[in-house]
Parts: sequence; structure tokens; C-alpha cells
Amino acid sequence: MEIDIKKPILDRNERLAQDNRKLFDEKGVFVLDLMASPGAGKTSTILATIAALRDRYNIAVIEGDIASKVDAEKISAHGIPAVQINTGGACHLESDMIQRAIEALDLDELDLVIIENVGNLVCPTEFYLGEHAKVMILSVPEGHDKPYKYPNIFQIAEAVILNKYDTLSVFDFDEAEFRAVVTSLNHAAPMFPMSATKGEGVDAWAEWLTARIEAVKSSS
Ligand code: MG
Ligand code: ZN
Repeated sequence: MEIDIKKPILDRNERLAQDNRKLFDEKGVFVLDLMASPGAGKTSTILATIAALRDRYNIAVIEGDIASKVDAEKISAHGIPAVQINTGGACHLESDMIQRAIEALDLDELDLVIIENVGNLVCPTEFYLGEHAKVMILSVPEGHDKPYKYPNIFQIAEAVILNKYDTLSVFDFDEAEFRAVVTSLNHAAPMFPMSATKGEGVDAWAEWLTARIEAVKSSS
């Protein structure tokens, strides 16, 4: 007899994720699940996003890491509520962790919650957290071949941020090939070239996000 341990875990995750989503919709809070490899610039992208949208929206961040609270402290230093989740070894977030994290947030006061998932291109794609959109970041130094190796994350992402775009000339990164492969996997996802630490290319991304935030606010 064979026992599939993955299925009951995913079923339970899905159920709790649906509860999370119901709550987010009721409160009119847009929730983004940001996925990328370690070092791709998730926290920098979040900080750039906060800088672009904080005058217009109330934002909070949920930081997922295997250990430490350094990223949450970076966010808090900017006066933005940040909840740190330490997964204690797990390489992705699950919906029960989000359920606990949002207890620390006042959803009535928020318009946008950004979840920084654990740095990993594989299993974050398999776990629905109740978010409205999963978005991924690929940074130029990681190479244009990543969509061949990790197709799932490119397929599930509703937008792709190409970060560290200012280093394009330094690395052997074929942007045309990258765009062609990403489009073949997911023709609907827009791509946003960005240099998050320099604040370059943030406007187009912020515009996309604003439209998504407004859609959730207007239907709540
Ligand atoms: Mg980070
Ligand atoms: Zn994992």
C-alpha cells in the first residue's frame, strides 16, 4: 500500500488558504505573494514598492524566512508594520503561518499586504496562501536559463520582475531569449525590468499593482 502524505497536507493548506482569502476580500486588502531565489532582491523590491505606494496606501509586510528577523527589521525601520515568520527549516510558507501572522495586523486599516516568501523557486509555487496574486522576481545574475530549469514558478506568476536590470551588461544575460521563454510558458504575465535598490523601473510595476489593489478595494 502506498500512502500519499503530500495530498492531505495540501488539502489542509488549501482549506485554510480559502479562509484567509475570504477574510482579505471582506476587508478589501490586496495580498501579494512575492517569490524568488535567495538574494534576488525580494526585500529591496518590497522597500521600493513601499516607497512608491505608501502615500496612497496603508501597507504591511509578512516576512517569511527559515531563521532570523533581519528582513522584518529592515521593513520596520521604514515605519511599516512587519510580521516575521520563521519557518524553522521549512523552505516555503503555508497558509496556517499566514493565518497566525495576520492576527498581528489590523486588516481594517490596510490596503496592501506583501508576503515575502522563503527564498526558493520550487515549493512556494505549490502552496496557495489565500493571496490575490503570486509574483516572482528573477535577478539578472541568476541567468536567463532559469525558466528552463524552473518552469512552474514562471507559469504560476501573474507578473515577472526582472531585477538588477542595471547589471545586464555585466552578465551574459540574453534578455530576448529570456523574454521568449517566459512568454512561451506564460503569455499573460507582464515583465517589469527593475533595479530595486536604485528605484529604477518601479513606476510600471507600481502602476500594475495599483490596478490590482483598486480592483479588490472596489469589490469589497
Ligand atoms: Mg529578503
Ligand atoms: Zn518548501
